Amino acid sequence: MKLVDPIIAFQSELQHIRRDLHAHPELCYEERRTSDVVAAKLTEWGIPVIRGLGLTGVVGIIKNGSSNRAIGLRADMDALPMQEVNTFPHASRHAGKMHACGHDGHTAMLLGAAKHLAEHRNFDGTVYVVFQPAEEGGAGARRMIEDGLFEQCPMDAIYGMHNWPGIPSGHMSVVEGPMMASSNEFYLTIKGKGAHAAQPHKGIDPVMVAVQIAQSWQTIISRQKSPLDTAVLSITQIHAGSATNVIPDEAKMVGTVRTFTTPVLDMIETRMGEIAQHTAAAFGAEVEYKFRRNYPPLVNHAAETRFAVEVMKEVVGADKVDDNVEPTMGAEDFAFFLQAKPGCYIFIGNGEGDHRDGGHGLGPCVLHNGSYDFNDNLLPVGASFWVRLAEKSLPLN
Ligand SMILES: [Zn+2]
Ligand SMILES: [Zn+2]
Repeated sequence: MKLVDPIIAFQSELQHIRRDLHAHPELCYEERRTSDVVAAKLTEWGIPVIRGLGLTGVVGIIKNGSSNRAIGLRADMDALPMQEVNTFPHASRHAGKMHACGHDGHTAMLLGAAKHLAEHRNFDGTVYVVFQPAEEGGAGARRMIEDGLFEQCPMDAIYGMHNWPGIPSGHMSVVEGPMMASSNEFYLTIKGKGAHAAQPHKGIDPVMVAVQIAQSWQTIISRQKSPLDTAVLSITQIHAGSATNVIPDEAKMVGTVRTFTTPVLDMIETRMGEIAQHTAAAFGAEVEYKFRRNYPPLVNHAAETRFAVEVMKEVVGADKVDDNVEPTMGAEDFAFFLQAKPGCYIFIGNGEGDHRDGGHGLGPCVLHNGSYDFNDNLLPVGASFWVRLAEKSLPLN
């Protein structure tokens, strides 16, 4: 490892910031305290800030030299609506809210990089440090873009980083092209006709229609999509009826669809609607079908990914870098930034959980789990990576 030495010197300050954020988690678009902490730190280090993009978003502007080249480095700030099981001193003080995705760590790593870049100014151009709200389902990235992020902060490329449990601590991984999936939800209501369960011929049973549709939908994945394309269609809820002896009027099915490309998504959305409508018609029922697209697929750009891999190898060593990591069907709203600008998204290994302080929960140290905690050993690693990425992107002549 070739970490940036001065960053190692303020590792304990970064850990203090990270643990303070962990103890005070805030949900989507409510990151007011977090946003204040970030803005106060940046200001203390002499970095001008823009606030209000995406409501609680904060951008720090670190300019040096005369070049008009610029890059963006992004961290997310929001927590999850879930109960923390850990009881160590920095555990959440807000019941039902928890930093279970490590965004506290992402924020602290980027603050560390900002502090170093502002103090040492070993680059020529502008580094925008982007602290976004509402990654967990609120599309904070899109909101920042709509509020004029890229007009106010014109940048040539943007990079993001997420801790990844299961990858060894401090290792870094990435893959060119699709790395995370699009996430989408569907809502289907089947309108039949209720009847006495002993007289099914007097009604139209929406439960049987739901069963047929559920089976047929899986053939979109197995028979209509190319076997070389990746996609998931999961029905996660089926609701109908309230008695053992009544055929209900309606049945509802909801769930999620994940794909790596938009054409495959278009096909699945259309075919699900057609199958639902025609199957229902065959039984004399009707349907109401809604399909909502949340986050697009996250697609890493080729040149920026290769560049990031070079920097990773310099910082953590080639033996700790995987440039062909297996993509995940999870979703991430950094995808919106990559639709607007070249760049890439990186995983940094959070390890298996043996970094956790005494008093941690008995569950696994995985994302969105009540026993999770961000690995503070990553703070200087991630911050060093950000610094080297910025310095190499914007070299002094
Ligand atoms: Zn998450
Ligand atoms: Zn996350």
